Amino acid sequence: MQRILPRGEIENLDHTSVPRLRLPVRASVFADRAARLRQLAPGNPAEAYLQLMATLVEAQQHALKAVAVPHIPPSRISVALAHSMPPLLASGWQREPVWREILQTLLTHMRQAQGVPGQALQVCDQLQGQLDNNPQAIEQIADAVLAGQVEESGSAAVPFVMAALQVYWTSLASTLSENQLPSASPFGVCPGCGSLPVSSIVRVGGREDGCRYLCCPLCAIEWHLVRVTCSHCEETKGLFYHSVEGGPEGVKAESCDSCHGYRKIFYQEKLLGVDPVADDLASLGLDMLMGEAGFARGSGNPLLWQQHE
Ligand SMILES: [Zn+2]
Ligand SMILES: [Zn+2]
Repeated sequence: MQRILPRGEIENLDHTSVPRLRLPVRASVFADRAARLRQLAPGNPAEAYLQLMATLVEAQQHALKAVAVPHIPPSRISVALAHSMPPLLASGWQREPVWREILQTLLTHMRQAQGVPGQALQVCDQLQGQLDNNPQAIEQIADAVLAGQVEESGSAAVPFVMAALQVYWTSLASTLSENQLPSASPFGVCPGCGSLPVSSIVRVGGREDGCRYLCCPLCAIEWHLVRVTCSHCEETKGLFYHSVEGGPEGVKAESCDSCHGYRKIFYQEKLLGVDPVADDLASLGLDMLMGEAGFARGSGNPLLWQQHE
């Protein structure tokens, strides 16, 4: 008797037909995210924060266009490929000072934008002061943000610094082609920059239809991972799917009984304009539910500061 395989298993049968990567589209990556945040904000418990972040993400799209990031040295790519390592590894990367120009562009945009709360403007003013008088301090904050180690007192600045770093890394990643990225990089981290994924999305349409991609919070690369697999420990048994009762369709948390972790999985079929960062930020209720159930979140949202374990 012939058995009909569910979607996830069909993917397993033929790896070659599934695109392994989705690279960021420079013209729209942040504009799409900003639009999604604006769409999700009304009525959300975090409405004011989602609107503030939408303004910041609009500034990111502007900065991506306005500030030129230098090319990646070809030797960097060939060495990374030879060792199956991400070529834009965030830890240890010598950031060009241009990333601070990106931060400057973001701060200017925030100060000119409508409806930015006074508290957020204060944070921007503080960062502006450091940018003008003590760039070394800004570099240290960036190092701490990338390492996931920021003092509680400095946490309000994190989304703004992170936003500038995202533009810098996304700009670099958008110039890469698939054959410049390792096909067998370490499990569970972005093949572009080595970051942990923010969430995952089951895509619709074309060759990606029904395939699940993990999404990088820093360089915006997405990489394929077969469904019903823990994105943290690679276990395929003891995985469960949780959602908020009465909550939006297509928003789930994939939990793992082996490592007691979880990450969200979004189904584009039910969420047409889904974005890995925006939809994650708009579903914090599910994080609370998972926390109460004793599961630890795999990694944070770049626009919402959480101290790493
Ligand atoms: Zn990345
Ligand atoms: Zn696991």
